[in-house]
Amino acid sequence: MKVTFLGTGTSQGVPVIGCDCAVCRSLDFRDKRLRSSVHLQVGGLSLVIDTGPDFRQQMLRANVRHLDAVLFTHEHKDHTAGLDDVRPFNFKQGKDMPLYARPHVIEQLKREFAYAFAEHKYPGVPQLKVHPIDHVPFFIEGVRIIPVEVMHYKLPVLGYRIGNFAYITDANYIAPEEKEKLRGLDVLVLNALRRKEHISHFTLEEALALIEELQPRRAYLTHISHQLGLHREVEAELPGHVRLAYDGLCVSVAYEPEHEEESQSSQ
Ligand SMILES: [Zn+2]
Ligand SMILES: [Zn+2]
Ligand SMILES: [Zn+2]
Repeated sequence: MKVTFLGTGTSQGVPVIGCDCAVCRSLDFRDKRLRSSVHLQVGGLSLVIDTGPDFRQQMLRANVRHLDAVLFTHEHKDHTAGLDDVRPFNFKQGKDMPLYARPHVIEQLKREFAYAFAEHKYPGVPQLKVHPIDHVPFFIEGVRIIPVEVMHYKLPVLGYRIGNFAYITDANYIAPEEKEKLRGLDVLVLNALRRKEHISHFTLEEALALIEELQPRRAYLTHISHQLGLHREVEAELPGHVRLAYDGLCVSVAYEPEHEEESQSSQ
């Protein structure tokens, strides 16, 4: 499995418009963060988690030429605003784009992108096919995906586990039973906003404590604010198996396909 970090910034991105802090003025390319999203190449599929406002730029930058589906974590705008730009994939692939999300997220997408769900659509609007999901693992063309519920203040958000890789963004609490789904990972991606406490995101300290508890072989921090500090300086403080993600970072994760019939009969 190949994981590409398309964006690793918090909702405003880094640099922040009009900000003169050291991070926003940094010339290090790792201090330039588009809104958080990852591209996954797994079992012959090309998937993205979330379509934030930078989706178009991210697809061009990562040279993604084919997309099989979008998995949504939650309905916040920094994770959904770029959905209109799936149109080139509709045109090129000649089919609807499958979207996987919780029912309340689908309802929100239907409100915000009402024209794409209208009975009589204007020509050229996005062609979308929604697949409501909940806590139950599901398959996309043979790839097993395990949703993991995390809390973003009071809002339930989905993380996703595929094989021994998991992606958790926009969380500041994970219930014990959901944490059990995050054991034995090769790679955990986890949000860490900044050092100072925040109402709906893990701080750096909280993220490191959770990584210590879950013991993944490697961990990457994402959804980073300019308030966290310079990439180079923050990373120098971290344990060797924990890195700050940055835009464009690619990570390989061993993946063994699980067969649909086997996993159903073993339940
Ligand atoms: Zn967010
Ligand atoms: Zn700044
Ligand atoms: Zn959010």
